[in-house]
Amino acid sequence: MKVLILGAGYGGLMTALQLQKELDYNEAEITIVNKHSYHYITTHLHAPAAGTLPTNRVKIELDDLIDREKINRIQQEVVEISLENKSVKLKDGQILVYDVLVIALGSDIETFGIKGLKEHAFVIRSVNSVRLIREHIEYMFAKYKAEPDHSEYLTFIVGGAGFTGIEFVGELADRVPELCKEFDVNPEVVRIINIEAAPTVLPGFEPNLVEHAMEVLKGKGVEIRTNTPIKEVTAEGVTLANGEQIKSGTVVWTGGVRGNKIIDNLGIETIRSRAKVDPYLRAPGYKDIFIIGDSSIVFDENVKPYPPTAQIAVQEGEYVAKQIVSLIRNGEMKLKPFKFQYRGTVASLGRREAIGTVGRWKIKGMTASLMKQLIDNRYLYSIGGLPLVFKKGKFLG
Ligand code: FAD
Ligand code: NAD
Repeated sequence: MKVLILGAGYGGLMTALQLQKELDYNEAEITIVNKHSYHYITTHLHAPAAGTLPTNRVKIELDDLIDREKINRIQQEVVEISLENKSVKLKDGQILVYDVLVIALGSDIETFGIKGLKEHAFVIRSVNSVRLIREHIEYMFAKYKAEPDHSEYLTFIVGGAGFTGIEFVGELADRVPELCKEFDVNPEVVRIINIEAAPTVLPGFEPNLVEHAMEVLKGKGVEIRTNTPIKEVTAEGVTLANGEQIKSGTVVWTGGVRGNKIIDNLGIETIRSRAKVDPYLRAPGYKDIFIIGDSSIVFDENVKPYPPTAQIAVQEGEYVAKQIVSLIRNGEMKLKPFKFQYRGTVASLGRREAIGTVGRWKIKGMTASLMKQLIDNRYLYSIGGLPLVFKKGKFLG
């Protein structure tokens, strides 16, 4: 049986590693296709973006994790999927066919059609996109030294105060003192402004913890503006919905995600490019096509969609792998519908500060920061054992 996995992020990689663990050699012909030769730890990306962690610490070469005797790896971009013809087209023109398909192509940035955003804003999306941010921040410090009348070079705007925005400004605020020292700049010139459309940062999260996050970030010098939608991004900065303009040399957009645009062309129902899958995570009407992670949408018992997270993507990957093993060995799936086990959420606010909910507990400060590291290190352990934890893990950072 030919099993084809598209994407080696949290969902796709977990599917592949579970199949690798459970299947014997030659039980199936498994292929994984991914744009890059590596998996990246998205949950740490805010740190290399700010420059507090080297970029190579968030990259893990896929060949260090997969057994090439069991899994064939193709480094290519998927450009088209035909569910009808059971085929996948790659950018180099190759056509792949399959018996079972797992689509785990992650998400795209949600721009909400905001003018100038694609052209002028940076995004925290991939290893390459965060490299650009890090380099650009340093360039802005150097540029300000050459043209000290332009204080806007050192105004950093972050659009959106969801988890990505909050984690990034926390990290950036930690980096600024180092940069000021390195470039001999008065810290008072530097501004970090986090702009959020909703009435509060982290909309929908525990109010007490949101309060704590605001205090911590303000204490680090971050300016937070809520009830303030960004309307346009230009080469000079941003224009807000109220018409106000803020000059800035750097705009980082963290305003949300939608599914991968490839999903829109599958001919099945989608919500913001995320496939509405059946209770077994399959494309409706297809018994051998699974869509997982940020590329699909799953609802809780109150028909509220689960947010797109690594946590759910990993559980979906494990579930789908078990179903595939059963398909291979028994000719049918054995498991009940997918059920997400929510374990909590912890968000970093920079060095030794975080907030989170874990089970019934609300945690903050150092405890939450340690919990975040534990969660992230646990993931590394699940894919690469202790050696990977020591190589790529975070300890008291
Ligand atoms: P991804 O992990 O994005 O993987 C998709 C893979 O597909 C990538 O390797 C990509 O290169 C590849 N790909 C995409 N398109 C193509 C193509 N056309 N051809 C070939 N390959 C392709 N979630 C949490 O649960 N906890 C956290 O702490 C957390 N922190 C986060 C911090 C940041 C800064 C960000 C941005 C997100 C965070 N998330 C967190 C969300 C989490 O990262 C995503 O929900 C998760 O990565 C989704 O997994 P996935 O497998 O669907 O997609
Ligand atoms: P998000 O959708 O959670 O947050 C985006 C924020 O941008 C929202 O608060 C929204 O109101 C705001 N926004 C939208 N348009 C705006 C505008 N025009 N002007 C100003 N603000 C605007 O997106 P995210 O933070 O990138 O998170 C994406 C997913 O990844 C979520 O599911 C999140 O839970 C997950 N994530 C989790 C963690 C964690 O668990 N530590 C960290 C990062 C991301």
